[in-house]
Amino acid sequence: MNERETVKSDPQFKYEVSKMHGGENLLRCFQCGTCTSDCPIAKFSETYRPRQIIRMVQFGMKDDVLKSDTLWLCASCFTCTDRCPQDVEVASVIRVLRNLAAQQGLAPQMFKDQCASIMESGYAYRIPESRLKKRESTGLPPLPKGNAESICKSLKGVDFVDHVQGGK
Ligand code: SF4
Ligand code: SF4
Repeated sequence: MNERETVKSDPQFKYEVSKMHGGENLLRCFQCGTCTSDCPIAKFSETYRPRQIIRMVQFGMKDDVLKSDTLWLCASCFTCTDRCPQDVEVASVIRVLRNLAAQQGLAPQMFKDQCASIMESGYAYRIPESRLKKRESTGLPPLPKGNAESICKSLKGVDFVDHVQGGK
């Protein structure tokens, strides 16, 4: 970023997130770094830092947070939430941020494809015909048929699906 560039800030963003279920204790974070030091994903990523995500929300860096690909690296293991001395529900804050990002059509294409595949076939991954043939040639039984219809019925009315499909 050059000296003239400024980060767009939304001072209301932290309150917006704090009002959502799981985001209530966001403002209590005093940046001790425990969440990052115990996060299994942060151990293997140069960029994923839950402490930093919380700070960015506190600073109102809405666009930067919601557009960030690293937001989607969280494994939702809740270690951070268990260890936070300030009772910040870090994993839940990340869930809230993902939901907000998905509402804006900012979910990564990989998740949109996965969602579409689950709704079409019942499988999170489209298994190529060549793989199915290989399976058959090795004597393995056919894969069970995914119940896409039942999944679609269960997901009816779930906003995420609409947002993900709408953002395709
Ligand atoms: S552990 Fe809690 S208080 Fe410490 S940086 Fe993470 S969210 Fe903030
Ligand atoms: S829930 Fe996400 S941010 Fe928290 S420790 Fe697990 S992977 Fe890291």
